[in-house]
Amino acid sequence: MSISQSTHQTQTGWNFDNSYLKLPDIFYRQLPPVPVRTPQLVIFNDSLAEQLGLDPQNLNTPQGAEILAGNLLPPGAAPLAQAYAGHQFGGFTMLGDGRAILLGEQITPGGERVDIQLKGSGQTPFSRRGDGRAALGPMLREYLISEAMFALGIPTSRSLAVVDTGEPVRRETLLPGAILTRVAASHLRVGTFEYAARRGSTADVKILADYAIWRHYPDVARQDNPYLALLETAIARQAELVAQWLLVGFIHGVMNTDNVAIAGETIDYGPCAFMDAYNPATVFSSIDHQGRYAFANQPPITQWNLTRFAETLLPLLDKQQESAIEMAQQALDSFSDKFRRTWLQGMRKKLGLMDEQEDDVALIDDLLAIMQRLRADYSNSFRDLAGEQLTDNELHRDGAFQDWRKRWQWRLEQQGQSFNTVKKIMDRNNPAVIPRNHRVEEALAAAEKDGNLQPLEHLLRVLATPYTDLDAADLAYREPPPPSQRVYQTFCGT
Ligand code: AMP
Ligand code: MG
Repeated sequence: MSISQSTHQTQTGWNFDNSYLKLPDIFYRQLPPVPVRTPQLVIFNDSLAEQLGLDPQNLNTPQGAEILAGNLLPPGAAPLAQAYAGHQFGGFTMLGDGRAILLGEQITPGGERVDIQLKGSGQTPFSRRGDGRAALGPMLREYLISEAMFALGIPTSRSLAVVDTGEPVRRETLLPGAILTRVAASHLRVGTFEYAARRGSTADVKILADYAIWRHYPDVARQDNPYLALLETAIARQAELVAQWLLVGFIHGVMNTDNVAIAGETIDYGPCAFMDAYNPATVFSSIDHQGRYAFANQPPITQWNLTRFAETLLPLLDKQQESAIEMAQQALDSFSDKFRRTWLQGMRKKLGLMDEQEDDVALIDDLLAIMQRLRADYSNSFRDLAGEQLTDNELHRDGAFQDWRKRWQWRLEQQGQSFNTVKKIMDRNNPAVIPRNHRVEEALAAAEKDGNLQPLEHLLRVLATPYTDLDAADLAYREPPPPSQRVYQTFCGT
């Protein structure tokens, strides 16, 4: 089967530009997706399609499935695989899109430019020993968690659709194959800069940096030292991002530098998960044996990743290497403060604190220590603090917690706001529901084994408004897993 450019889909609203092609050719290889046998839409994101200017009535169709599977190219697409490198669990590797194809950049009715990428689209020159394909479960997982993150208000890539390819993929067993359509501000990664620095010249790094500035941080171009400003801005965005992860209990799982987006979005959902019981040492990923990417290790690892980014920019920061290093070091040193400030602001909101006081840090730390000792549920413990009726659980029966609550209530009285005002802030910052792993696994199993999408669709619906109290019929979605359903490991699932 060969790929033809679709002429029927002009009404769909495709509006591609292909600015990545203007980069030097070391940065990509042009090639089409590898066609699949019998593509069928499994799930489609109508509201995201509309935001992108795409008509769901045209795309959420059998012909749309051909496009979203890579069998048919939408008008204006110029497919390519991106080249990049990365530090994976600390070690440097040359990588690249081994199973993804960038179709192009959709210019939305709102004037935004976003990458449309097919993930699981077949082998490329960067596939190494991989088959270029993806299994249905992990692609649905990325769809679900990325859309949940979006609903939580956290910067993230989005998911437009998942198609079943009709071709099995061989993993430990044979699994249904699938392709995810990923939408992202861009797929520029720290690893793209590492690739440029390692494989190209300083001129290539400069072109890439200028491209990143043009695409994501145009204001930076007017600064005296735009490359320093790019570094500082990327550091600020990553600090805010990882703080937001921690505030909702998210663990990315594979924070390799190839999975760190320069635009500051959460990207590349693999063995990620939300924490149930509070424990800063929580690790889910089956491949993270050392706990490198454990919950509480995410801020220092982000700083480590950003240090790899800074290294690639050194020749652009200053002609004198010593002063370039000094600039980079200073920028990197600001990470901890930036992270801490966003995290503290978020924690104050989680506790309904509207002004700032010295003792707040101790108040926050003491609550977290009690939660850790009791293995209290992270999300529900916060959400229930503002509950009007007394909650009967281990945390609320605990003496130290009761003392803590008196301190907190006294602190709230000092700020002289009504309970309603405080509760509103708390509810907007403490999710009533998160994608709990046992629920995610249950929904994926139903889809994968029985072709039953109802649990997945229901879960997506519940997760779409995470800061609203659940309907009585959905209360079970907030419950932590019973011991028999606890998930200790999530698999990279390629
Ligand atoms: P990830 O762990 O998803 O960030 O992927 C790391 C690298 O491995 C990227 O370069 C991917 O493109 C590549 N990769 C992952 N799975 C496959 C696969 N099944 N076939 C080819 N390349 C893959
Ligand atoms: Mg990756």
